[in-house]
Amino acid sequence: MSTKASNLTNATIANYAERVGQVYEVYDEDGRADLDALLKKLGGTVEYESDGESLHVDKVGRFTVFIPRFTSQRRDRFTIAHELGHYFLHYVVAKEAASKAFARGGRNRAETEANVFASALLMPANEFRRAFHEFGGDAWALAERFEVSPAAAEVRAQVLGL
Ligand SMILES: [Zn+2]
Repeated sequence: MSTKASNLTNATIANYAERVGQVYEVYDEDGRADLDALLKKLGGTVEYESDGESLHVDKVGRFTVFIPRFTSQRRDRFTIAHELGHYFLHYVVAKEAASKAFARGGRNRAETEANVFASALLMPANEFRRAFHEFGGDAWALAERFEVSPAAAEVRAQVLGL
């Protein structure tokens, strides 16, 4: 599939990711995303593979996320959210704007975009800010709350200027 960057700004991508979580109603009261529910609503399935992670899209509403075996559940969540970023940013949006020229941004930008999407989907801004203050910025507690790695929580805090 295409990995051409959408060239949307990070802020736009983050808003888009959170809107996806909200529209499909997969956040609990703390802002934790239920990815299984989201995949089900989107028509996506997860399959384990011995190497690498990838996304196979049959069409909008039918796709498979391949993730490596033997990784942690939190790692899997980020990987799935990352591939959902590719799905929305580089397949759904790209399809809607098929005639649009994608002049800038190569594969690296597309990967960054998918990470920005994943980060915002898994750690919605308002709930993350609230939790950050609740936990005094403790990355481990934040990681526990949002079921991500402490490193991912630290990146999110930085991006939000906390
Ligand atoms: Zn990727």
